[in-house]
Amino acid sequence: MIDKKIFKCLRGDESEIALVQEGLKIDIRISKIYEALFTLEEMREVFRHALPAGLDDSEEERIDEGLKRLERILDEIRQQKGNRLRYVSDKIELRTREEEFINIDPIQAGGRLTLDARKALIAYGDGYSVCDNCLKPFRLDKIKKPPIDRFHDELAAFLGMDEARVVPGARRGFQAVVSSLVERGDPVLLTSLSHYTEFLAVEESGGVVREVMADENNIITADRIAERIEEIERKDGKKPVLMILDHFDYQFGNEHDVYGAGRIAKEYDIPFLYNGAYTVGIMPVDGKKIGADFVVGSGHKSMASSAPSGVLAVREEWVDKIFRTTDIRGDLTGRKFGVKEVEMLGCTLMGAPLLTMMASFPHVKERVKRWDEEVRRSNRFIETFLKIKGNRVLSEMPRKHTLTRVDTSASFDEVAKTHKKRGYFLTSELKKRGITGVFEGATREWKFNTYGLTDREVEYLGSAFIDIAKKYGIEVEA
Ligand SMILES: *Cc1c(COP(=O)(O)O)cnc(C)c1O
Repeated sequence: MIDKKIFKCLRGDESEIALVQEGLKIDIRISKIYEALFTLEEMREVFRHALPAGLDDSEEERIDEGLKRLERILDEIRQQKGNRLRYVSDKIELRTREEEFINIDPIQAGGRLTLDARKALIAYGDGYSVCDNCLKPFRLDKIKKPPIDRFHDELAAFLGMDEARVVPGARRGFQAVVSSLVERGDPVLLTSLSHYTEFLAVEESGGVVREVMADENNIITADRIAERIEEIERKDGKKPVLMILDHFDYQFGNEHDVYGAGRIAKEYDIPFLYNGAYTVGIMPVDGKKIGADFVVGSGHKSMASSAPSGVLAVREEWVDKIFRTTDIRGDLTGRKFGVKEVEMLGCTLMGAPLLTMMASFPHVKERVKRWDEEVRRSNRFIETFLKIKGNRVLSEMPRKHTLTRVDTSASFDEVAKTHKKRGYFLTSELKKRGITGVFEGATREWKFNTYGLTDREVEYLGSAFIDIAKKYGIEVEA
């Protein structure tokens, strides 16, 4: 009975939100679906050890047992009963975050797998699975079956660039470019909002970081970039050999002037790496229009792919430098390694990460066209959120992104001061309402990401925050 009411609540009936206040009862069917999936995998396992000629009696028996178990589980799903499965295997807990909760974790929103990606994951999870049909010249991006070669062409076109490679994360894209362009002591232009992985890529190459400070609104402007370049030239005696700018930074989700940066890059003749970790795969990105020499994206952050995955796309004139092929030779054997690319260490994403990326790609191409709707929903949530007295948005307004940094020092943190759970009261209240992804214990400055949520979910999310505020006597605007 209770189950049904909560279900109704989750369907967006605001008036019933109070029902879940004292703890959400998790739908048992979620766990049962996993159980059914695992049972099917056990049946699949039988075939993986059977002789090609067919199953023997004991194997047939195991298939029968599997079917019976499956039927029991299906019954439990129908009747919504049974025990909850807790572990995948010893000590590895079942992960049901995306099924049981509305997840507003800043880094997880754009990397959730699509249904097709989850299917690909099941089918291509084996180690070197993409190598089944690897023929001469033996390179990942040349494989035709599955159509990895075509995927590479489509990726480059999708980003408005000439050549693309898949890489294990945006960071590996930075690394490939930095290691190709930066020598010991060379200045590299980053910003006061740059991601740490950019710093580490520079550190590895022996370069030195020169930052551009964001302005008083936490925006990196073209003027500031130009000024800083001139200052570096004066002080270091040479211009930066590379500049990296995050289109939207990870701290505020603010938009920085990448078009202006593209112009400056051309003017000062500095190679420009566009960091699209928070854009490629969720909004349209046209590298050439921006004036970028390199575009880097993150598969697991914004392209609905498994980790580690990402993309590095370059303009024609950089292909030979960044994707240079091996020249090395064994001194005793004289062995050489053909067209393997040095920065890629030959091949990169050799299984599940790549196939999830490929399976999600058609959906990703479509979803970037709906970025406006995502931004609209982000602003709609913020509007509700700001009805709570004391809540502040630290990111630029109106929002141009779904990632937002807020300050609740004057609202939720006031409650935390006297609550027995301290700062954990907020995450705990959110959990009770089926919301997760807010940094545990945070009540001052924290971030969330509404990417991928439906109108209904955004509505629910807003009411949940209002509801918590009211419960603790925080004033809420009508
Ligand atoms: C997340 C993030 C990265 C790192 O991406 P990976 O794909 O995990 O390497 C780099 N830059 C920015 C701005 C990010 O937000």
